[in-house]
Amino acid sequence: MSTKTDTPPATFIDEGAIITALIGGARADAGRVREILAKASEAHGLELAEVAALTTISDPDLLAELFATARAIKEDIYGRRLVLFAPLYISNLCENDCLYCAFRVRNKELKRRALTQDEIRHEVEILVDQGHKRVLLVAGESYPQQGFQYVLDSVASIYEVKRGNGEIRRVNVNVAPLTLDEFRALKATGIGTYQLFQETYHRETYSKVHLGGRKRDYDWRVTAMDRAQASGIDDVGIGVLFGLFDWRFETLAILQHIQHLEETFGVGPHTISMPRLEPAVGSDIASQPPHPVSDLDFRKIVAILRLAVPYTGMILSTREGPSLRRESFAMGISQISAGSRTNPGGYTDDTVADMEQFQLGDHRTLDEVIRDVAQMGYIPSFCTACYRLGRTGADFMDLAKPGEIKHHCDPNALSTFLEYLEDYGSPETVAEGEQLIAETLASMAERERSTSNKLIAQVRAGRRDCLV
Ligand code: SAM
Ligand code: SF4
Repeated sequence: MSTKTDTPPATFIDEGAIITALIGGARADAGRVREILAKASEAHGLELAEVAALTTISDPDLLAELFATARAIKEDIYGRRLVLFAPLYISNLCENDCLYCAFRVRNKELKRRALTQDEIRHEVEILVDQGHKRVLLVAGESYPQQGFQYVLDSVASIYEVKRGNGEIRRVNVNVAPLTLDEFRALKATGIGTYQLFQETYHRETYSKVHLGGRKRDYDWRVTAMDRAQASGIDDVGIGVLFGLFDWRFETLAILQHIQHLEETFGVGPHTISMPRLEPAVGSDIASQPPHPVSDLDFRKIVAILRLAVPYTGMILSTREGPSLRRESFAMGISQISAGSRTNPGGYTDDTVADMEQFQLGDHRTLDEVIRDVAQMGYIPSFCTACYRLGRTGADFMDLAKPGEIKHHCDPNALSTFLEYLEDYGSPETVAEGEQLIAETLASMAERERSTSNKLIAQVRAGRRDCLV
């Protein structure tokens, strides 16, 4: 087993600066916190010291003000859209030994399986028939005999599936860090976002929980997004596995990572993911996280990141239960997974439990999640327009920052939601959804309403994939 740790040290995560900022932040009084909230409400982002001060808020009034500021920014930038996706686990083979994950090499309780291309297409058919348009391909860090080509073939298989009006229009990928050449090959398959979580930015904790395999190399992992960007993948998603180390430290480290990408490539990550440790077969620390993150702290993380990086999307997975998901939508979450399975082949056979990566907190179907989201007044969106019209990386941010992107997102959200209702919605969801579409149109500015009405008329006339 390789324990290679030979990547030159990355210096952009500066633990000393994080600790100093946290010590300084703890001294911020209510007046200082309110100054920071006022600055944040201009939606130009925050500095490390300011974010540090927000992490120390415990006073109920200040907390309420923090959450209200996050709500206002989210509403202003993202409106009431929520993009939906499904993870697709293609393989649970893995040569690493991450103490928190059921896929780790030393877990003998797990049945190993890598789906064949036929099996992958079958899983995708099921997702397409549910109405999904975006999948996140996930795999452990060890591939069948084709090596990394397996991942490339799998992306192609997903895009191949066509069922009536349905198809997957965007494949995002969450696989182990790649070389520059592998990233170039991955880009050539037409992926959307390359996603990778650092798990913990704290080096000492990182080395304690990653015991074997290539993943032991902190620097190889933390520099993955630099290689992705250098290969031309300008849409990247970062994240932390909350529960391994102090959430305040991790939140500041996320900001340092973002600042590094912005300084080096002129664009930060497209998304941040925020999984919390969930129980996993064969893992003790997954059930008893060393630094548990309470629901209140989790809401603080969502709110603080919304203020710190207003234009970065935030992803919540099915790991969280329905009630926490609801609260976090209001404060900053822009994408959610729904109807998920975390075992390879789990959509084809959902009775198999001894292959899954971790246990899920939300077992509802896509249709149930959509109905719930619509009842809360959020527009479930299956939009994939930006990536397919080439609005990625810096081009996307140039539209997002002056608020222009809204003119595209809201009409596209409504038209893709209507596609879902027409092709896959249950009668109850259709009733709920049509009412939401009518209310949303009525409340829109003239320009968006006119664009939305055109797209909606096209969808009602049977056209699909109408984009602006
Ligand atoms: N093997 C690749 C890697 O480690 O980056 C990609 C796939 S891995 C299955 C995807 C993510 O699952 C990991 O980055 C980790 O954050 C998350 N994960 C692992 N075990 C988990 C657990 N017990 N609870 C919640 N998330 C977990
Ligand atoms: Fe393998 Fe990824 Fe799980 Fe680690 S987190 S054991 S690398 S699948």
